[in-house]
Amino acid sequence: MSGNLYIVSTPIGNLEDITIRAIRVLKEVDVIAAEDTRHSRKLLNHYGITKPMISYWSEKEKVRSEEIIEKLQSDLSVAIISDAGTPGISDPGAVLIKRAIDEGIDVVPIPGPSAAIAALSVSGLSTEEFTFIGFLPPKAAQRQKRLNELALEPRTLIFYEAPHRIFETLKDMEEIFGQRQAVLAKEITKMHEEILRGTISEILDMLKTRTIAGEYVIMVEGMKKEDVSIDIALDEIKALMKKGKGRKEAVKIVAEAYGLSKKELYNRSLG
Ligand code: SAM
Repeated sequence: MSGNLYIVSTPIGNLEDITIRAIRVLKEVDVIAAEDTRHSRKLLNHYGITKPMISYWSEKEKVRSEEIIEKLQSDLSVAIISDAGTPGISDPGAVLIKRAIDEGIDVVPIPGPSAAIAALSVSGLSTEEFTFIGFLPPKAAQRQKRLNELALEPRTLIFYEAPHRIFETLKDMEEIFGQRQAVLAKEITKMHEEILRGTISEILDMLKTRTIAGEYVIMVEGMKKEDVSIDIALDEIKALMKKGKGRKEAVKIVAEAYGLSKKELYNRSLG
């Protein structure tokens, strides 16, 4: 027999943002595995939860996962929590969850806050389809490369970013995404919560008069079909043809993806 592994979402700032079920599960499990036991103790104390805790963080995720799997296999139930929000979302958790699934252990979600969804819900940007990117690479060249790869993405883009990189990341976005609408959600659910909306350049301007501190989610509207320049479409056709597609097929794929005229694209692709 094995115990259940509970993936428990915890507040992203305001301690009240935890579900009644999450509190019950944290009180009932045998062990709580926390990203940072000292950090989580504050939340657990607030709700009178006194359970044995073990630490569980990215660098030790593999080793710790095996220890937790052993506990689960000896019929102990385990809850994992991260410092904030949903474990596994730009946080440790994925390695353990995969191992538990492979071992046939029941993995049970205890849903609650995640900064990405909280930010998106108040963004005013399209929520119909969105792409969660999480953290971009910290080095400028790699970050710009990743942003270039995302330049044609039509869905709303959601990024996490550290305060000391907010300016440079928004600058890169201004350069690569142009004058798109964006939203910067700062310190959601906390005392200094602030949501800035505007073009990427307008948001950069707003930041000039503000203190940059705390936690941020950046959201950028996806590329609109009418924004696709014919040059970008022609580049895509060339890339598809390099990968072995025939001209006709490549034109068809790109024209359908961006709502452009097949005939015009075909003729332009010959030039
Ligand atoms: N697992 C978390 C979740 O479900 O949202 C994310 C953890 S990740 C290590 C931390 C990043 O999430 C921060 O750098 C920031 O980008 C974002 N974040 C977390 N809490 C936030 C908050 N209260 N307001 C704005 N962004 C937040």
